[in-house]
Amino acid sequence: MHENIKKAAHIICQSKQTLALTGAGISVESGIPDFRSPGGLWERFDPIEYGTIEAFRAEPEKVWLMLQEVSVLLDRARPNPAHTGLGQLEKMGVLHCIITQNIDNLHQEGGATNVIEYHGNPKTLSCLWCSQRYSADELKGDGPPKCSCGKILKPDVVFFGEPIPIKALQESHELASSCEALLVLGTSAEVTPANTIPRMAKIAGATIIEINVTPTVLTNYVTDIFLQGKASEVVTELVQEVESMMAQHEKKRLCRDPGKRS
Ligand code: NAD
Ligand code: ZN
Repeated sequence: MHENIKKAAHIICQSKQTLALTGAGISVESGIPDFRSPGGLWERFDPIEYGTIEAFRAEPEKVWLMLQEVSVLLDRARPNPAHTGLGQLEKMGVLHCIITQNIDNLHQEGGATNVIEYHGNPKTLSCLWCSQRYSADELKGDGPPKCSCGKILKPDVVFFGEPIPIKALQESHELASSCEALLVLGTSAEVTPANTIPRMAKIAGATIIEINVTPTVLTNYVTDIFLQGKASEVVTELVQEVESMMAQHEKKRLCRDPGKRS
Protein backbone atom coordinates (compact mmCIF):
# COMPACT_ATOMS: atom_id res chain seq x y z
CA MET A 1 0.00 0.00 0.00
CA HIS A 2 2.72 2.48 0.97
CA GLU A 3 4.45 1.94 -2.38
CA ASN A 4 1.18 2.77 -4.16
CA ILE A 5 0.71 5.92 -2.03
CA LYS A 6 4.23 6.98 -3.07
CA LYS A 7 3.45 6.29 -6.74
CA ALA A 8 0.23 8.32 -6.49
CA ALA A 9 2.00 11.20 -4.72
CA HIS A 10 4.66 11.22 -7.43
CA ILE A 11 2.01 11.40 -10.17
CA ILE A 12 0.27 14.28 -8.35
CA CYS A 13 3.54 16.22 -7.94
CA GLN A 14 4.41 15.77 -11.63
CA SER A 15 0.95 16.49 -13.09
CA LYS A 16 0.28 19.94 -14.51
CA GLN A 17 -3.46 19.56 -13.96
CA THR A 18 -5.01 17.28 -11.35
CA LEU A 19 -8.71 16.83 -10.85
CA ALA A 20 -10.73 14.99 -8.18
CA LEU A 21 -14.11 13.33 -8.65
CA THR A 22 -15.87 12.58 -5.37
CA GLY A 23 -18.98 10.65 -4.39
CA ALA A 24 -21.06 9.84 -1.34
CA GLY A 25 -18.32 7.57 0.12
CA ILE A 26 -16.10 10.53 1.00
CA SER A 27 -18.79 11.83 3.37
CA VAL A 28 -19.67 8.51 5.05
CA GLU A 29 -17.13 9.24 7.81
CA SER A 30 -18.89 12.58 8.35
CA GLY A 31 -22.08 10.70 9.21
CA ILE A 32 -23.91 10.87 5.85
CA PRO A 33 -24.67 7.33 4.61
CA ASP A 34 -23.96 6.53 0.95
CA PHE A 35 -26.46 4.73 -1.32
CA ARG A 36 -24.78 1.34 -1.66
CA SER A 37 -23.58 0.34 1.81
CA PRO A 38 -26.17 -1.19 4.14
CA GLY A 39 -27.60 1.26 6.66
CA GLY A 40 -30.60 3.20 7.91
CA LEU A 41 -31.76 6.06 5.74
CA TRP A 42 -31.68 4.61 2.23
CA GLU A 43 -33.25 1.33 3.32
CA ARG A 44 -36.31 3.28 4.45
CA PHE A 45 -36.24 5.71 1.52
CA ASP A 46 -35.40 3.81 -1.67
CA PRO A 47 -33.59 6.39 -3.86
CA ILE A 48 -35.44 5.09 -6.91
CA GLU A 49 -38.81 5.56 -5.22
CA TYR A 50 -37.98 8.92 -3.60
CA GLY A 51 -35.19 10.33 -5.75
CA THR A 52 -36.75 10.63 -9.20
CA ILE A 53 -38.18 13.82 -10.65
CA GLU A 54 -41.36 11.91 -11.52
CA ALA A 55 -41.79 10.98 -7.84
CA PHE A 56 -41.30 14.63 -6.84
CA ARG A 57 -43.83 15.89 -9.38
CA ALA A 58 -46.39 13.26 -8.40
CA GLU A 59 -46.02 13.32 -4.60
CA PRO A 60 -43.84 16.21 -3.38
CA GLU A 61 -45.10 15.88 0.24
CA LYS A 62 -43.91 12.26 0.36
CA VAL A 63 -40.50 13.14 -1.12
CA TRP A 64 -40.11 15.97 1.42
CA LEU A 65 -40.29 13.37 4.26
CA MET A 66 -36.99 12.04 2.90
CA LEU A 67 -35.59 15.51 2.16
CA GLN A 68 -36.24 16.67 5.73
CA GLU A 69 -34.30 13.71 7.18
CA VAL A 70 -31.45 14.33 4.74
CA SER A 71 -31.41 17.99 5.69
CA VAL A 72 -30.97 17.13 9.41
CA LEU A 73 -27.99 14.88 8.52
CA LEU A 74 -26.44 17.55 6.29
CA ASP A 75 -26.81 20.24 8.97
CA ARG A 76 -25.02 18.04 11.51
CA ALA A 77 -22.20 16.85 9.25
CA ARG A 78 -18.70 18.30 9.52
CA PRO A 79 -15.83 17.80 7.04
CA ASN A 80 -13.58 14.81 7.76
CA PRO A 81 -9.82 14.49 7.04
CA ALA A 82 -10.56 13.45 3.43
CA HIS A 83 -12.32 16.77 2.76
CA THR A 84 -9.70 18.86 4.59
CA GLY A 85 -6.88 16.85 2.94
CA LEU A 86 -8.20 17.71 -0.53
CA GLY A 87 -8.47 21.34 0.64
CA GLN A 88 -4.78 21.18 1.62
CA LEU A 89 -3.80 19.72 -1.76
CA GLU A 90 -5.61 22.62 -3.43
CA LYS A 91 -3.73 25.16 -1.24
CA MET A 92 -0.44 23.43 -2.06
CA GLY A 93 -1.22 24.08 -5.73
CA VAL A 94 -1.35 20.41 -6.76
CA LEU A 95 -5.13 19.90 -6.96
CA HIS A 96 -6.84 22.20 -9.42
CA CYS A 97 -10.50 21.35 -9.15
CA ILE A 98 -12.93 19.01 -7.37
CA ILE A 99 -16.00 17.75 -9.19
CA THR A 100 -18.38 16.45 -6.55
CA GLN A 101 -21.55 14.40 -6.90
CA ASN A 102 -22.35 15.28 -3.29
CA ILE A 103 -24.74 17.94 -2.16
CA ASP A 104 -23.35 18.41 1.34
CA ASN A 105 -21.01 21.46 1.01
CA LEU A 106 -18.33 19.55 2.94
CA HIS A 107 -15.56 20.22 0.40
CA GLN A 108 -16.04 23.97 0.76
CA GLU A 109 -16.26 23.66 4.57
CA GLY A 110 -13.06 21.59 4.39
CA GLY A 111 -11.15 24.44 2.73
CA ALA A 112 -11.52 23.76 -1.00
CA THR A 113 -12.57 26.72 -3.13
CA ASN A 114 -12.60 25.32 -6.65
CA VAL A 115 -15.56 22.94 -6.49
CA ILE A 116 -17.98 21.98 -9.25
CA GLU A 117 -21.30 20.82 -7.81
CA TYR A 118 -22.31 18.31 -10.47
CA HIS A 119 -25.59 17.44 -8.73
CA GLY A 120 -26.45 20.92 -7.49
CA ASN A 121 -26.88 22.27 -3.97
CA PRO A 122 -29.89 22.21 -1.61
CA LYS A 123 -29.13 25.70 -0.25
CA THR A 124 -31.58 27.09 -2.80
CA LEU A 125 -35.09 25.93 -3.69
CA SER A 126 -37.00 26.43 -6.94
CA CYS A 127 -40.62 26.30 -8.01
CA LEU A 128 -41.17 23.85 -10.88
CA TRP A 129 -44.30 25.77 -11.88
CA CYS A 130 -43.36 29.47 -11.84
CA SER A 131 -39.52 29.24 -11.61
CA GLN A 132 -39.16 31.49 -8.53
CA ARG A 133 -36.05 30.76 -6.41
CA TYR A 134 -35.63 31.01 -2.64
CA SER A 135 -32.86 30.51 -0.09
CA ALA A 136 -33.52 27.31 1.90
CA ASP A 137 -32.59 29.00 5.22
CA GLU A 138 -35.25 31.64 4.62
CA LEU A 139 -38.00 28.98 4.47
CA LYS A 140 -36.87 26.53 7.18
CA GLY A 141 -39.71 25.21 9.30
CA ASP A 142 -42.21 22.41 9.62
CA GLY A 143 -43.64 20.84 6.49
CA PRO A 144 -42.56 21.21 2.88
CA PRO A 145 -41.58 24.80 1.94
CA LYS A 146 -44.00 26.52 -0.43
CA CYS A 147 -43.70 29.09 -3.20
CA SER A 148 -45.76 32.28 -3.11
CA CYS A 149 -47.81 30.66 -5.93
CA GLY A 150 -48.82 27.92 -3.46
CA LYS A 151 -46.84 25.00 -4.98
CA ILE A 152 -44.30 22.93 -3.05
CA LEU A 153 -40.68 23.93 -3.79
CA LYS A 154 -37.92 21.59 -4.96
CA PRO A 155 -34.32 21.85 -3.69
CA ASP A 156 -31.86 22.74 -6.47
CA VAL A 157 -30.32 19.27 -6.50
CA VAL A 158 -30.40 16.92 -9.47
CA PHE A 159 -33.03 14.23 -9.06
CA PHE A 160 -32.78 11.00 -11.09
CA GLY A 161 -34.24 11.82 -14.52
CA GLU A 162 -33.17 15.49 -14.42
CA PRO A 163 -30.35 16.98 -16.51
CA ILE A 164 -27.01 18.04 -14.99
CA PRO A 165 -26.72 21.87 -14.71
CA ILE A 166 -25.25 22.85 -18.07
CA LYS A 167 -22.32 24.93 -16.71
CA ALA A 168 -21.22 22.12 -14.36
CA LEU A 169 -21.52 19.58 -17.17
CA GLN A 170 -19.49 21.60 -19.67
CA GLU A 171 -16.76 22.62 -17.22
CA SER A 172 -16.36 19.08 -15.87
CA HIS A 173 -16.13 17.55 -19.28
CA GLU A 174 -13.59 20.12 -20.46
CA LEU A 175 -11.47 19.53 -17.35
CA ALA A 176 -11.76 15.74 -17.65
CA SER A 177 -10.54 15.91 -21.24
CA SER A 178 -7.49 17.98 -20.34
CA CYS A 179 -6.31 16.77 -16.92
CA GLU A 180 -3.15 14.74 -16.46
CA ALA A 181 -4.26 12.99 -13.26
CA LEU A 182 -7.67 12.20 -11.80
CA LEU A 183 -8.34 11.19 -8.20
CA VAL A 184 -11.62 9.24 -7.89
CA LEU A 185 -12.79 9.06 -4.28
CA GLY A 186 -15.74 7.28 -2.66
CA THR A 187 -17.89 6.74 -5.72
CA SER A 188 -19.35 3.46 -6.97
CA ALA A 189 -19.29 5.00 -10.48
CA GLU A 190 -22.76 3.54 -11.09
CA VAL A 191 -24.56 6.88 -11.56
CA THR A 192 -24.54 8.40 -15.07
CA PRO A 193 -23.36 10.76 -16.48
CA ALA A 194 -20.89 11.43 -13.61
CA ASN A 195 -19.39 8.00 -14.21
CA THR A 196 -18.32 9.01 -17.73
CA ILE A 197 -15.73 11.42 -16.23
CA PRO A 198 -13.08 8.78 -15.32
CA ARG A 199 -13.32 7.19 -18.78
CA MET A 200 -13.13 10.59 -20.46
CA ALA A 201 -9.97 11.43 -18.48
CA LYS A 202 -8.47 8.02 -19.22
CA ILE A 203 -9.04 8.42 -22.97
CA ALA A 204 -7.38 11.86 -22.75
CA GLY A 205 -4.29 10.16 -21.28
CA ALA A 206 -4.72 10.95 -17.56
CA THR A 207 -3.54 8.63 -14.80
CA ILE A 208 -6.50 7.47 -12.72
CA ILE A 209 -5.94 7.11 -8.96
CA GLU A 210 -8.91 5.51 -7.20
CA ILE A 211 -9.60 5.57 -3.44
CA ASN A 212 -12.37 3.34 -2.14
CA VAL A 213 -13.02 0.79 0.61
CA THR A 214 -13.97 -1.79 -2.04
CA PRO A 215 -13.15 -2.28 -5.74
CA THR A 216 -15.67 -0.76 -8.16
CA VAL A 217 -16.60 -1.12 -11.83
CA LEU A 218 -13.65 1.19 -12.58
CA THR A 219 -10.97 -0.67 -10.64
CA ASN A 220 -10.03 -3.33 -13.21
CA TYR A 221 -10.69 -1.40 -16.39
CA VAL A 222 -10.00 2.28 -15.84
CA THR A 223 -7.99 2.71 -12.63
CA ASP A 224 -4.19 2.83 -12.79
CA ILE A 225 -3.49 3.01 -9.05
CA PHE A 226 -6.04 1.61 -6.59
CA LEU A 227 -5.65 2.78 -2.99
CA GLN A 228 -7.96 0.59 -0.92
CA GLY A 229 -9.10 2.01 2.40
CA LYS A 230 -11.17 4.66 4.13
CA ALA A 231 -10.99 7.99 2.33
CA SER A 232 -9.92 9.88 5.49
CA GLU A 233 -6.98 7.55 6.16
CA VAL A 234 -5.77 7.25 2.57
CA VAL A 235 -6.02 10.99 1.86
CA THR A 236 -4.14 11.84 5.08
CA GLU A 237 -1.27 9.54 4.04
CA LEU A 238 -1.32 10.85 0.50
CA VAL A 239 -1.13 14.49 1.64
CA GLN A 240 1.82 13.68 3.94
CA GLU A 241 3.64 11.97 1.08
CA VAL A 242 3.00 14.86 -1.34
CA GLU A 243 4.22 17.34 1.32
CA SER A 244 7.40 15.39 1.92
CA MET A 245 8.08 15.02 -1.84
CA MET A 246 7.56 18.75 -2.36
CA ALA A 247 9.86 19.58 0.59
CA GLN A 248 12.60 17.30 -0.80
CA HIS A 249 12.21 18.83 -4.23
CA GLU A 250 12.52 22.35 -2.73
CA LYS A 251 15.62 21.31 -0.74
CA LYS A 252 17.28 19.96 -3.89
CA ARG A 253 16.39 23.13 -5.80
CA LEU A 254 17.88 25.33 -3.06
CA CYS A 255 21.07 23.23 -2.96
CA ARG A 256 21.43 23.60 -6.74
CA ASP A 257 20.56 27.30 -6.74
CA PRO A 258 21.18 28.85 -3.27
CA GLY A 259 20.80 32.40 -4.68
CA LYS A 260 17.04 31.83 -5.13
CA ARG A 261 16.45 31.33 -1.38
CA SER A 262 13.50 33.48 -0.30
P1 NAD B 1 -22.59 5.41 -3.95
O1 NAD B 1 -23.41 5.34 -2.70
O2 NAD B 1 -23.12 4.77 -5.17
O3 NAD B 1 -21.17 4.75 -3.66
C1 NAD B 1 -20.39 5.13 -2.57
C2 NAD B 1 -19.02 4.51 -2.73
O4 NAD B 1 -18.21 4.94 -1.65
C3 NAD B 1 -19.03 2.97 -2.70
O5 NAD B 1 -18.24 2.50 -3.76
C4 NAD B 1 -18.40 2.63 -1.33
O6 NAD B 1 -17.61 1.45 -1.39
C5 NAD B 1 -17.51 3.85 -1.10
N1 NAD B 1 -17.24 4.16 0.30
C6 NAD B 1 -18.07 4.03 1.38
N2 NAD B 1 -17.45 4.47 2.50
C7 NAD B 1 -16.22 4.89 2.13
C8 NAD B 1 -15.11 5.45 2.84
N3 NAD B 1 -15.16 5.68 4.16
N4 NAD B 1 -13.99 5.77 2.13
C9 NAD B 1 -13.92 5.53 0.80
N5 NAD B 1 -14.93 5.00 0.08
C10 NAD B 1 -16.07 4.68 0.74
O7 NAD B 1 -22.25 6.93 -4.15
P2 NAD B 1 -22.07 7.76 -5.49
O8 NAD B 1 -21.23 7.02 -6.45
O9 NAD B 1 -21.67 9.12 -5.07
O10 NAD B 1 -23.53 7.82 -6.10
C11 NAD B 1 -24.63 8.12 -5.28
C12 NAD B 1 -25.42 9.34 -5.69
O11 NAD B 1 -26.13 9.79 -4.51
C13 NAD B 1 -24.58 10.50 -6.08
O12 NAD B 1 -25.23 11.05 -7.16
C14 NAD B 1 -24.62 11.48 -4.91
O13 NAD B 1 -24.94 12.75 -5.39
C15 NAD B 1 -25.83 11.08 -4.10
N6 NAD B 1 -25.57 11.05 -2.64
C16 NAD B 1 -24.94 12.12 -2.05
C17 NAD B 1 -24.65 12.11 -0.69
C18 NAD B 1 -23.93 13.31 -0.10
O14 NAD B 1 -24.11 14.43 -0.56
N7 NAD B 1 -23.08 13.12 0.92
C19 NAD B 1 -25.01 11.01 0.09
C20 NAD B 1 -25.69 9.93 -0.53
C21 NAD B 1 -25.95 9.97 -1.91
ZN1 ZN C 1 -44.30 29.04 -7.84
